[in-house]
Amino acid sequence: MSESAPTMGEPTPAMFETTPANGEPTPVASRTTLTAAESSSTVPETAPATAGSSSTTVNTIWVVGSFNVDFTLTMAALPKPGETLVGRQLVTNLGGKGANQAVSCARQGAPTRLIARVGDDPETRTMLGRLAESGVDVSGVQLGAERTGAALVMVDDRGENLIGLYPGANGALELIDLPVAAGDVLLLQGEVSPEVNLIAARRARAVGCTVILNAAPAAPQLPELLSHTDFLIVNEHEAEIVLGWPGPQHQPDPRHQPDPRHRPDPRHRPDPQRRPDPQPHLDPQRRLDPRNKPHPQPQRDLPVPCVIVTAGADGARTYRDGTERHQPAFRVAAVDTVGAGDTFVGAFAAGLRDGLGVPGAVRWASAAAALSVTRSGTQESIPSAADVRRFITHHGGNP
Ligand code: ADP
Repeated sequence: MSESAPTMGEPTPAMFETTPANGEPTPVASRTTLTAAESSSTVPETAPATAGSSSTTVNTIWVVGSFNVDFTLTMAALPKPGETLVGRQLVTNLGGKGANQAVSCARQGAPTRLIARVGDDPETRTMLGRLAESGVDVSGVQLGAERTGAALVMVDDRGENLIGLYPGANGALELIDLPVAAGDVLLLQGEVSPEVNLIAARRARAVGCTVILNAAPAAPQLPELLSHTDFLIVNEHEAEIVLGWPGPQHQPDPRHQPDPRHRPDPRHRPDPQRRPDPQPHLDPQRRLDPRNKPHPQPQRDLPVPCVIVTAGADGARTYRDGTERHQPAFRVAAVDTVGAGDTFVGAFAAGLRDGLGVPGAVRWASAAAALSVTRSGTQESIPSAADVRRFITHHGGNP
């Protein structure tokens, strides 16, 4: 892909022109992009956090990432292949890691701009309006000929789910322009093409902008992308895939306690003849290689200056400068943990931008994410900075 390719064959749009602080109208960028006001009649008159921001005067968080419409059908039980079952309730929500994390940044009060690509249909325009209401500047969202990315989710009464993802327009996102400046933060995830992420990271690094990569969903990353990354944030499962670090089976996740109502299946008793596998996290092929140490030393072999591994109710670990630091999770009664990671990543970026430093930003992110798991929904559950401040005070400043 050419770095300077204009979208849909049109002249290079001025889609990244920022709204001037004097309140003069922003030039309409191009027919392939939306301004917040155009995207919905529900966009508030009063300026959201992003209005009046300029990448040259205010440190902006740029989120280059996905935008999805999520369709969730709740039902008593999940259908088996070939079976048709009637669901109870169908809910449509705004989703995608890019959009979720942008909302998290904006709710913390950070000027946030989303670079994403969507299809041009009424439902998507409504969703873009909601995003703008959350304070995210959507003027860099490209309107493509493709359909908007979608997640088709079925959830049963036990919380089990089946999810089908349709990347749609997310897969066609092109980076036309990215006027990042020193002091800005670039936030990337794994739901757009790795090449787009690489181009964005290269440009950001070239001007002294901080690059945060949330390598989710789990997939090996381009080494060159990692070489342009300052902060890599992963959960334990992603740490295993992306970094080859031991997975969660070594650190039991307190969220996954065995259900006491389930009696053990007598057919599945452990075989007393079998010795425990010393390297259960490695595939059989790699296990034979003596160079594969059973216990990697995360503090030493970092592919980026700082790695943060989130671990649900076990908190988050930060690895940098040869040290490991554990941030315990704030103790809460969890209701719905979906989206905890997105809340954490966005709040971390906002904390970093606000000058909290790495431990301070991790603590802020942990508080925001803990608060989010006490509420249901994904974007609806992301707290504001005022909520997070109150929550931390309520907890006496400590998890
Ligand atoms: P992901 O959603 O990407 O799997 P995690 O489950 O690791 O991410 O959660 C991200 C962060 O959210 C954790 O590091 C922690 O700070 C917070 N968190 C998640 N679950 C809980 C919980 N049950 N109680 C308190 N905090 C939680």
